[in-house]
Amino acid sequence: MAGAFAFAQSLPVAITFNGQPLEVGGARTLADALDASGFDPRPGDLVAVDGSVIEAGKGEPFHAAVNGQVTSDLTRTLANGDVVEMGDGSPTEEPSDIVEEAIPYTISSEGGGAIHLLEGQGADGLRQIKTGRISGIVAEATVREPQNVTRRNVSPDVGDEKVVALTFDDGPWHDTTVEVLDVLRDHGAKATFFTVGSRIEGEGIDLVKRAASEGHQICTHTYTHASGSGKGVNLGFMAPDEQTAEIEQGFAAIENAIGGEASHIIRTPGGNYGDEVMRAIGPKVSAEIGWDIDSQDWRRPGSAAIANQIKSAWPGAIILMHDGGGDRSQTVEALKDALPYLKEQGYRFVTIDELMSYPLA
Ligand SMILES: [Zn+2]
Repeated sequence: MAGAFAFAQSLPVAITFNGQPLEVGGARTLADALDASGFDPRPGDLVAVDGSVIEAGKGEPFHAAVNGQVTSDLTRTLANGDVVEMGDGSPTEEPSDIVEEAIPYTISSEGGGAIHLLEGQGADGLRQIKTGRISGIVAEATVREPQNVTRRNVSPDVGDEKVVALTFDDGPWHDTTVEVLDVLRDHGAKATFFTVGSRIEGEGIDLVKRAASEGHQICTHTYTHASGSGKGVNLGFMAPDEQTAEIEQGFAAIENAIGGEASHIIRTPGGNYGDEVMRAIGPKVSAEIGWDIDSQDWRRPGSAAIANQIKSAWPGAIILMHDGGGDRSQTVEALKDALPYLKEQGYRFVTIDELMSYPLA
């Protein structure tokens, strides 16, 4: 048996080395293959975290792969048919201490229209800060770029079409919402209601149901009118999870009333749609709607003054009014005056969805 073993040991193996046939004798290891090939790999350098050379030739001594599998083991025994690739060593980076930090995504704003769309993923990037344990050098590298957001403030391009969007905030509201719905019905007008979710219960459910059944668009204006912070009506005063709850509960209140999916077009309380609000609620929202004409009806300047604001409309304009939040009888009177006036000029009253079906720029 000892003789047979010695005989087997002395048989060379036939392999492929860097694309060429090669016979490897001796112990038939990778080291033997390297000897037999005459190839003399050049070692890589030991480099600092910034890529500068700390010591030449102290990096990876060679690069090797057997049958496609990378190895650094020169004592590995080869078999007939093995395919060996060997090359120079790569640079080896010194050991380092690594700190990772987020690169916050940015939000930039474009345009001056009243329809606010967010484009982009809004995901933070990642930066790695390495301190070399040998060199002491500090190097920064971006592992992942942030995915920034663009807020596009657009308007509908309605051409010559005389369409305007009447919008009503802060309802549903006892008496006023019914009166507004009656005026709209009398003039064949469609409108958009930005509702306060906490008010959609009891009679509020019936009002929202009626508005939806008469073809009006029902959207949320948050659940509590963002009053939860106690600091003022601005979602930005609330924590991010409170902000998203305001929107989600607003949607849920509408869905409970109409028995269908709520529009994800919203209006923020006070029109406050700053960076911190966009970061929190942007992913929940398809568009945030401002206004072109502020009727100022909440100040109760008299119905004639409110009507004059509404009458100043132009094709594609979004008009801000209120059917809730206090006595809105002046708003109702103003509508009775302004709607027939605008109809005579050839205007139609459309929902925000209809307005957004025009090209937006
Ligand atoms: Zn409001």
